[in-house]
Amino acid sequence: MAAKVYDAIVVGTGAGGGTAMKILCEAGLQVCAINSGPRMDTDQDYRGHRQVYDLKYRGYGDPLRLKGKAHQEPYSVEESEYSEGRDLFEHDVAYSNAPGTDWYWKRCKATGGKANFWGRSSARFGDIDFKAADLDGFGENWPVDYAEISPWFSKAERYMGVASTIQNRPSNPDGEYLPPIPWRCIDYIIQKGAEKIGVPYLPDRCAQLTVAHNGHPACHYCGNCSRGCDVGSFFSPTWFTIPDAEATKNLTLLTNAIVRSVIVDEDGMVKGVAYVDRATPKEVEVYAKVVVLAASCVETAHIMLNSKSRRWPTGIANSSGQLGRNLCEHLYGSPGYGYLPRLLGQPATPDNIADSTVAWSPRWQNLKNPREEKFIRGYSVYIGGGCGEFPGYYGQIEGFGSGFKRDIKRYYPTSIGALIQAPTLPSPTNYVDIDPEKKDIFGIPQLRFHFQWGQNELLMWEHSKQVMVDLFKAMGGEMWGFDDEPNRPGTSLHETGVCRFGNDPKTSVTNKWAQTHDVPNLYICDASIFPSCTDKTTTMPIVAFTMRTCDHMLDNFKKGVHNRA
Ligand SMILES: Cc1cc2nc3c(=O)[nH]c(=O)nc-3n(C[C@H](O)[C@H](O)[C@H](O)COP(=O)(O)OP(=O)(O)OC[C@H]3O[C@@H](n4cnc5c(N)ncnc54)[C@H](O)[C@@H]3O)c2cc1C
Ligand code: SF4
Repeated sequence: MAAKVYDAIVVGTGAGGGTAMKILCEAGLQVCAINSGPRMDTDQDYRGHRQVYDLKYRGYGDPLRLKGKAHQEPYSVEESEYSEGRDLFEHDVAYSNAPGTDWYWKRCKATGGKANFWGRSSARFGDIDFKAADLDGFGENWPVDYAEISPWFSKAERYMGVASTIQNRPSNPDGEYLPPIPWRCIDYIIQKGAEKIGVPYLPDRCAQLTVAHNGHPACHYCGNCSRGCDVGSFFSPTWFTIPDAEATKNLTLLTNAIVRSVIVDEDGMVKGVAYVDRATPKEVEVYAKVVVLAASCVETAHIMLNSKSRRWPTGIANSSGQLGRNLCEHLYGSPGYGYLPRLLGQPATPDNIADSTVAWSPRWQNLKNPREEKFIRGYSVYIGGGCGEFPGYYGQIEGFGSGFKRDIKRYYPTSIGALIQAPTLPSPTNYVDIDPEKKDIFGIPQLRFHFQWGQNELLMWEHSKQVMVDLFKAMGGEMWGFDDEPNRPGTSLHETGVCRFGNDPKTSVTNKWAQTHDVPNLYICDASIFPSCTDKTTTMPIVAFTMRTCDHMLDNFKKGVHNRA
């Protein structure tokens, strides 16, 4: 019997893959979506409304839970005791760090991926980002401009539901928004202080539903977003794109299937993918007219680098040699934390939105002149605080025993902390490749990271620490301190760049539609196509660019560039 051939295979069901499968299924294509882990079950896996005291390990989880796993490192925040007992995070597939690299690669392998638990900050990129190379002469421009992408941002925002306000800052373009998340007392205090030192403090663009939207209920502010939303009041593939795709009856969803490579015909064109079934663990092939890779940036490059054939000896679609190159990331870390003495003694308020990016300070540096500062481009800052469920500042104050507990309570409504989001610049020394020595437990050659912070982002880090000293002074706060060094690379989960798009096939992996230059029936729908990082996060742009790529692909089906199966 001839093997089934789908119209399209989509690898990954996260922000990118979920959006691709929704659009392709709704257009009538027969789609096979392949996901490396199990199906996310909202009843079992999103258990946010339990209290910490109901949990055996008070939310921290069984310290022995990773015993015997290939990748032992626990992941922060989202991998908690709330979802323990379910195998949602990747600890079977190990990866390597080259000497001197300390990359922290957090992976959610369940359907929906990391966007089950994401922070929801959803700003638009602008021409200051797309045309940065024209402004400061460093690196490459993106092959698109704001006028071209803006309608796709609108489409993504309208679908996802993003709460914010119109702010009239060209470096941080406005979009189509739901009403903003109400501000807390601390936000007004921070804003006043920020104004005094010329730093913007504005409502963030947050993909959280302040009103009911497209059949999804309004947020009830339980504050548990990082453990998944029980009712679907923020955008996630689990509540949005996957049900939409399934409703068409055009979707076949394979779970616990780790794609190891893209397979090609004699001409080097894509004919399907090979995956390892976790349970057996046997290798299986699936066939399609078109393959979409959306396995989340570096994993997409991993699959492509492992897709070697006579035609593609260094990895599929790698005639440019750029596959795996230009790895960028956000430098994260706290440049300042402390408290607001004027709030001491105030009652705690039920502002359980401490888990959300209610407000932020979008990039304010190098706007008038691209070389005003010692560094080029710019960073943004999130400042958190308020009466969250957990007093996260406990590690920032000294003491022990009953005095320590008393201080934690005393400072409860007063503490605030900043987080810098500083983009790295593409560098020839920051990249991923295949470790020639190591294979994971499924026999798949491991991905290896090569990455160091560069001078530019370290200058931003130092700059942000001074800004925090000034800000705390301006708002009458007391500073407890700042992080001694940035968080480990990988922490932000906003990596970009390892399959960059561009107009020149000699210097980029895909064209401006995210269709690989070398193999026209291979598309990419994640942040690996973004040639550089910005001061903004990546998920809403992943959704917007995926919508645009799928539109182009459907056009190619109509024109006969790709034929239906
Ligand atoms: C706590 C947290 C906070 C965050 N905050 C923000 C924020 O505020 N704003 C923002 O924009 N972003 C934020 N992010 C990042 C955001 O989650 C990612 O940008 C987004 O999820 C990336 O989408 P993706 O589809 O590329 O990858 P993912 O969502 O990771 O999905 C990838 C999918 O591919 C599957 N897969 C992987 N490898 C394979 C394989 N070999 N074979 C088959 N399937 C495979 C996985 O199972 C997964 O389902 C945050 C993330 C976390 C965890
Ligand atoms: S705060 Fe709102 S979006 Fe977050 S988990 Fe609760 S209901 Fe969902």
